[in-house]
Amino acid sequence: MKYMGQPYNAAVKPLLILTPKEKILVDTGIGELPEKYQKLYNVKRTNQENLKTQLAQHGLRQEDIDIVVNTHLHFDHRGNNALFKNAKFIIQADEHKYAQEPDRFQQAAYMSELFDTKIDYEHVHGKRQITDGVHVVPTPGHSIGHQSVIVKAEDKNYVYCGDAAPTKENLERRNIPGVLYCAHKALKSIDELRAIENAVYIYSHDNEQPHL
Ligand SMILES: [Zn+2]
Ligand SMILES: [Zn+2]
Repeated sequence: MKYMGQPYNAAVKPLLILTPKEKILVDTGIGELPEKYQKLYNVKRTNQENLKTQLAQHGLRQEDIDIVVNTHLHFDHRGNNALFKNAKFIIQADEHKYAQEPDRFQQAAYMSELFDTKIDYEHVHGKRQITDGVHVVPTPGHSIGHQSVIVKAEDKNYVYCGDAAPTKENLERRNIPGVLYCAHKALKSIDELRAIENAVYIYSHDNEQPHL
C-alpha cells in the first residue's frame, strides 16, 4: 500500500466477534484483487492468512456469518463482502452513499468499480446497538462515514478502531491517518476513541499488535 508517498506494508485484519446468538465479522479484508490492481497493491498473504482459512480455524464457514459490519467501504475493508451470502451488512448511511460516487481524490481508496452493488446494506445513522454488548459509534474523518465497533465483555470495552486509528501510533500520538476526508473530524474521532473507559484497542493495520 502506498502511504504518504512511501511504500508501506500494512497488515489488514478483520475481526470476528462470537456472541451467544450471532457470528459477527467486522470488515472483510482486501479479497482477491484483479490483476491490474495487484501490480499497484502488492498483497502478501499466506494460505493460513486467507479469510476462509481463518474462519475454518474457528469451525466456521462463510455461510455461518450472520452480520458483517463494515467500518467503511475502502477496498481493503470490504474486499470479501460478496462471500457472506447469509449476512446482514451494516454501514453508516452517508458512507454507503459516498462510496457509490466518491470524489476523485478518494476513488483509488474505494475502487467502487470492483464491487457488486447487489449487497443490501442496512443503513445506520450515528451510534447504534448491533446486538447485546456490541455497538457501533461514528468515527468520521478518514472517510466521510467511518464507524468503529465496541464490544463490551466483562469489565472491558474492546474497540475495533478501523481506519480511524489504523495503528497504535495513530491513537497514542494523536496522529491522523494519511488518507483523509476531513482532518478536523479525524482528530476529533481519535480523541473520542481515546476517551473510552477500560478500553482495549484493536487496530486494523498494525503490524506489531499480537493476535488477541
Ligand atoms: Zn480506509
Ligand atoms: Zn484500511
